[in-house]
Amino acid sequence: MSKKFIGAHTSAAGGVFNAAINAKKIGAQAFALFTKNQKRWDAKPLDTATIDKFKKELEDACIEPKHVLPHDSYLINLGHPELEKREKSLTAFIDELERCDVLGLDRLNFHPGSFLKKISEDECLDAIAESINYAHDKTQNVKCVLENTAGQGSNLGWKFEHLAHIIDKVEDKSRIGVCLDTCHMFTAGYDIRTRETYDVSMAQFGNIVGFEYLMGMHLNDSKPDLGSHVDRHESIGKGKIGLDAFKFIMNDERMDDIPLILETIDDSIWKQEIELLYSLEN
Ligand SMILES: [Zn+2]
Ligand SMILES: [Zn+2]
Repeated sequence: MSKKFIGAHTSAAGGVFNAAINAKKIGAQAFALFTKNQKRWDAKPLDTATIDKFKKELEDACIEPKHVLPHDSYLINLGHPELEKREKSLTAFIDELERCDVLGLDRLNFHPGSFLKKISEDECLDAIAESINYAHDKTQNVKCVLENTAGQGSNLGWKFEHLAHIIDKVEDKSRIGVCLDTCHMFTAGYDIRTRETYDVSMAQFGNIVGFEYLMGMHLNDSKPDLGSHVDRHESIGKGKIGLDAFKFIMNDERMDDIPLILETIDDSIWKQEIELLYSLEN
């Protein structure tokens, strides 16, 4: 049995349970989903029938809750320079954590935040940590999983130091984690294309952040070049990263037992991409 749990960010259109059904269809052992419309602030609460059906479909797909990596709304910015807008984000973020909790899920993946060139990077990182502390106080169980970004615009979280800065200021370390996106890593400037560069970049992650915080990965190849700070995903093996990096990941025990999620551009080949990734295991 493989210790790798690979899936994709499947569609939850028509109900969150459809994400599990769609994952099963492509032979996924993990999946990501939006638990509400990711482009809207509000959402109606999840009803009991929906929650029960989600749990049933999850079991039916033989996927464990810890291998599901929900993603929050793109509108949320926990480091927003304006207090009123940060509070709006925080309210929505808390709602997202609660939605995960009622679904029996233990982690929520989100992009750290953007300073919008109005406050310093450090002030923004402090605000993000403060927001997480507040959200921890108001909720239970669910872990906040920071995603590394490509560093497009004023998005923070592209340097491992940004992630470490936030984690350092989070009080409850048992409820904070990291999701590493390979495309974002690469376009942020961390090369993983060869054995040597992979080992160096991953050692940097280990030293600066720590693998004990790694709670998921997004497996994406990249259209743009190393260090371009542009976020454009590509199918596995067809981009600037290439297949070798994914072979290193598939044989790296630090990535065991966490959700490994495809967010690649062609969802019609996800099934084949999952098979391809499993075939890279020694
Ligand atoms: Zn991602
Ligand atoms: Zn991306």
